[in-house]
Amino acid sequence: MNSLLLLLAVPLPPQSLEALGPLIEERHVDTPYGPVGPLARRGLPDTPSVWIQPYYGLPSRTDPRATLQAAHSLNVTQIVACDNVIAVNPMLGPGHPVLITDYIDFTRHQPQTFYEYEGTAGLTQTPAVCPRLTETLSQVLPMAPGGVYLGVDGPRRETAAEARMFRSWGADVLGQNLVPEIALAKELGLCFAGLGTVDEISAERPSTPPQADGFAGLEVLVHAFSALLQRIDPNSACDCSARLDPRI
Ligand SMILES: [Zn+2]
Repeated sequence: MNSLLLLLAVPLPPQSLEALGPLIEERHVDTPYGPVGPLARRGLPDTPSVWIQPYYGLPSRTDPRATLQAAHSLNVTQIVACDNVIAVNPMLGPGHPVLITDYIDFTRHQPQTFYEYEGTAGLTQTPAVCPRLTETLSQVLPMAPGGVYLGVDGPRRETAAEARMFRSWGADVLGQNLVPEIALAKELGLCFAGLGTVDEISAERPSTPPQADGFAGLEVLVHAFSALLQRIDPNSACDCSARLDPRI
C-alpha cells in the first residue's frame, strides 16, 4: 500500500494533526545513512493514510538521504514538504503560503546524491517538482502563488546584499529544508511537492510587525493537507516514478 509523507519544517501544534486522523503507528527506520524516526502514520477510514515527520534544518538534522531512503522503504510514493521560508519577493508577507514551482541550490554542503559514481547523474531534464502533485496542492490552497525556492544552509540569516542578489536571480523565498531533498526524491522516483509559509521577510526590506496570530496560517495548512488526502491516490502511477532509480 503506497502512501504520502508530510515533511513538516513548520511549527504545527501537534494536536492540530488530529485533523489528519488518529495515530495508527509509529516507526523507526534504519538506513545506510543513519536512523530515521519516529515517523507517525495517521489516517481516516476513507482517505489514504499519511506518514508525518517533523523536519527542521538544524545542523544536527538527519541526513536527507536517510529521510528519503526511509520514505522509499515505507512505500511512500508522494512527498509534500512544508518549510518556513524567508520572502525575498516584495509581494509576499508573513503568513503567506507559496507553492514551490522550481528551486535554486545555494547550499554549500557536499552534493548529496544516491549515485555512487562520478560524472553525470544520468537524469534527463525534468520538472523540479511533480507537476501533478503540485497541481493538486494548488487546488486545496488556491490562494497560494507559485514561487522559486532558494535553498540555503544557515544557520545565519542572509545579508541584505545576498537578498538583493537572490531576488535578481529570480528567487521568491529562501529556506533550509527542501534542498537537497527535492533532488533526492527525484532520484528515487518519488513525487515531490513543496510548500513554503513565509515566516519573515528578507534582510533587504524594512521589517514589518509579526503576524498577530502566527498559527492562523498554519491551521490553514492542516486543513489543506486534510483536503489533499481526499484528492490524491498514492497508488496511481505518475511520470515521476519512471525516473532513474540508482539503488534499487
Ligand atoms: Zn509525480
